[in-house]
Order: sequence, then structure tokens, then C-alpha cells
Amino acid sequence: MIGRRLYRLRPWLVRALIPPGHAGSYVLYVGSGAGVQPRYNGRSDHDLAARLTTHARAERGEYFSYHVHRDAATAYLAECTAFHLRGDAWANVIHPAAPRGAAAACPFCTVRGHIRRFSTHLIVSERLPATVTTKEA
Ligand SMILES: [Zn+2]
Repeated sequence: MIGRRLYRLRPWLVRALIPPGHAGSYVLYVGSGAGVQPRYNGRSDHDLAARLTTHARAERGEYFSYHVHRDAATAYLAECTAFHLRGDAWANVIHPAAPRGAAAACPFCTVRGHIRRFSTHLIVSERLPATVTTKEA
């Protein structure tokens, strides 16, 4: 269980907790009692309250947790973090898309790319025959 406060996913509660017009990230939970499990993570670049209200009306979860962020790039980073931490446990199958018009890149994918390229370089280097240069006097 993630140590966040969970709220019932109901439109009135979303409106009571989150003012309109803020970027944010969220997690939707399914189940009840001790069986509550995080199921889906997402974000809104412009209106977290509206996004969660849509989820509530569509009954996409029983509970939610959320964070309001200062901008879309920060919300994107939070969504990527959750996506990579939980991996296959999420219902999310597609990597979060970067905010529209932003140059943001997922830091976890970027690091993974660097590691992959560096590993490939090492493997190739180890396969090369050793070059020995001797100077004849
Ligand atoms: Zn990523």
C-alpha cells in the first residue's frame, strides 16, 4: 500500500478538494478494505479536478490520491516516476506522453538509453582483439 491518503472517487469530493485549473498527477485505486490496490496513474496538464471528475463519472476506480503541481512539466515527471516504479502492475500500458509543446523528456528513459548505449560500447570493446604495439630497437 502506498502511504498516501485515499479519497472516494466521487465528483463532489473531487470538486471539494481540488480547485479548478491546476496541473496535477493522480492514482486511481480499485477494491475495498484491505484489498484496495493502485490501478492506474495519470495526470492533467491544465485541470486535475476536471480529469478526476471525468474518471469519477465513468466509475474508473473506487478511490484516488493526488498531487497538485506547479506546472505540466512537473506533473509529467510525477506521472513518469509512478509509471516506472510500478511497471507492469499498472493498467497503464503506454508510457506517458510529454506535455504538448514541451521539450520535457522522461528522465528514467533517458538514463536507461545512456546505460544501454554504454553497455553496448563495453561489449563491443571487449570483443575487439587487443592491439599490442612494440617498438623494435
Ligand atoms: Zn520513461
